[in-house]
Amino acid sequence: CGVFGIYAPGEDVAKLTYFGLYALQHRGQESAGIATFDGDKVHLHKDMGLVSQVFNESSLGHLPGNLAVGHTRYSTTGSSRVVNAQPVVVETRLGSLALAHNGNLVNTKELREELLSRNCEFVSTTDSEAIAVAIGSEVDKGKGWLEAAISAFAMCQGAFSLTIATPKGVMGVRDPQGVRPLVIGTLPTTPVRYVLASETCGLDIIGAEFLRDVEPGELVWITEEGMASFHWSQQQKRKLCIFEMIYFARPDSQMEGESLYSYRLRIGRLLAAESPADADIVIGVPDSGIPAAIGFSQASGIPYAEGLIKNRYVGRTFIQPTQTMRESGIRMKLNPLKDVLEGKRVIIIDDSIVRGTTSRKIVKALRDAGAIAVHMRISSPPVTHPCFYGIDTDNQDQLIAATKSVAEICAQIGVDSLAFLSWDGMLKATNEDPMSFCSACFTGDYPIEVPEVVKRSKLI
Ligand code: 5GP
Ligand code: SF4
Ligand code: MG
Repeated sequence: CGVFGIYAPGEDVAKLTYFGLYALQHRGQESAGIATFDGDKVHLHKDMGLVSQVFNESSLGHLPGNLAVGHTRYSTTGSSRVVNAQPVVVETRLGSLALAHNGNLVNTKELREELLSRNCEFVSTTDSEAIAVAIGSEVDKGKGWLEAAISAFAMCQGAFSLTIATPKGVMGVRDPQGVRPLVIGTLPTTPVRYVLASETCGLDIIGAEFLRDVEPGELVWITEEGMASFHWSQQQKRKLCIFEMIYFARPDSQMEGESLYSYRLRIGRLLAAESPADADIVIGVPDSGIPAAIGFSQASGIPYAEGLIKNRYVGRTFIQPTQTMRESGIRMKLNPLKDVLEGKRVIIIDDSIVRGTTSRKIVKALRDAGAIAVHMRISSPPVTHPCFYGIDTDNQDQLIAATKSVAEICAQIGVDSLAFLSWDGMLKATNEDPMSFCSACFTGDYPIEVPEVVKRSKLI
């Protein structure tokens, strides 16, 4: 999911949030929403669909206020329905609260049971609503916003990057491991106004300058007095999701002091060094495989070419096509360029193999277009385990690398050769402490303990 937050009296906060969400659209295409506060009064608009489908001038015009939070959703818990759209709004003793969540709790069941025993009510099944309700319940015990929020976060286990709006101000929060990203930016206004976004591309679009990350286990509280910081957890131990670096975040976003484009170029170069192949051209699977393909080409000296054209108007998810359309498969999204591929030995680069269905169809399309050899190189290791922290990499039984060797995958997707980036290489190329990343979907080594019953729901 994508989250956004802004405190900027005097600015059109709804419109700025709309633009921020537009840049974070790749993080979730199922639903979108914005909540603004106009003094004590909350205004909310959310619906199923893309940001551009959910909002127009008129709906944005009905969202006045001094501060706002927004969300783009990609469902990992709770079905894809409008009741599960965010921001979640709950009523408390101190007024309304609107919350936008990226990540996934692993103790939702226990948390809901605790809150039900306090007579709290729910309208959805999401972990995100449970966090909002927990804060509300702590407020209703007599605590202030900050104290209540901190007590509620202590009850949450798992991944959560949050933006929260109250009548008083906006909070930005990360779980103690900082699994999902969250950054702070400043608007060039007097006084300085603060903005929160999942990624720096959400700041760039509104002309905000990147200030810094919200730290793991940190809460920033943005009010009329400016920004205050609280380290609410003593157990900070950074475990940023490596899949954000590899695939999920936009290449123009900055993480760890550089654009992800630079990181992805580097792992492409490394892949060429680790697993070379003899070929005439290197191509990438648009869009996520392109930077690594360019890196592979640079390091190998094999010319980079565009061999697949992507329809820019098909999202990562789209309305279910008919059976006939489904059989024509990826053609709706990717079309091979015959003139480029005919008679060529091709190296094709993608960022990851999850189920293996995309790869098989792409390889067939390349051969149909005249490629005489197809070597596939993947800029991440085999995905062998499901994610419990907010990326929908599916249940383990759906993951091709969970049960098949590289040689078996190679045969199944029909390539002449197949190689994956090494786990070591992926982490070393970050130029950061390898221990500061989660890479559980490649190893099964989960850095935040997952309760047995939750694990069993997704593991073979
Ligand atoms: P698959 O092997 O599952 O058929 O497809 C792998 C492709 O899906 C890669 O190109 C990668 O960019 C993309 N991908 C990787 N992880 C995810 C994910 O969590 N969700 C979606 N929608 N696509 C993903
Ligand atoms: Fe990211 Fe994989 Fe860890 Fe999930 S399991 S947080 S996708 S690295
Ligand atoms: Mg892709």
